[in-house]
Amino acid sequence: MALIKCPECSNKISDKAKKCPHCGYIMERKYCPKCGEALAIDARACSKCAYNFMEDVMAPRPSYKSENYGLAIAALISSLIAPVISLVLSIVVLVINKEQEKSIKSLCFAAITLSAIEIFFQIIGIIFALILN
Ligand SMILES: [Zn+2]
Ligand SMILES: [Zn+2]
Repeated sequence: MALIKCPECSNKISDKAKKCPHCGYIMERKYCPKCGEALAIDARACSKCAYNFMEDVMAPRPSYKSENYGLAIAALISSLIAPVISLVLSIVVLVINKEQEKSIKSLCFAAITLSAIEIFFQIIGIIFALILN
């Protein structure tokens, strides 16, 4: 049984006490993530395994993560838009030029087929991304 300092009256009390016997302060507890030891709420380090809470809190979180996330979203959106644009363009060309040459027609159908395949794989990719998340 270890002694901790009461945050209210600074008297030494048992770390197992739920209430300070000196001033009646109700002890808030946190638990060491490493060994599960009950600690005072303001403890900076675990009294049992020396786990340092301050290091954990102060550890710099990599800020580039959110930037990468934004770039990934931008990449996803542009990959979604590109085949839709080519799909729309080829349909427009097909509709506007009814008396078009066969070669133009086949180009448009090739574009439609390719964009349809791209959109199909995008949907699969999005489903996979959702499952992995
Ligand atoms: Zn106290
Ligand atoms: Zn610990």
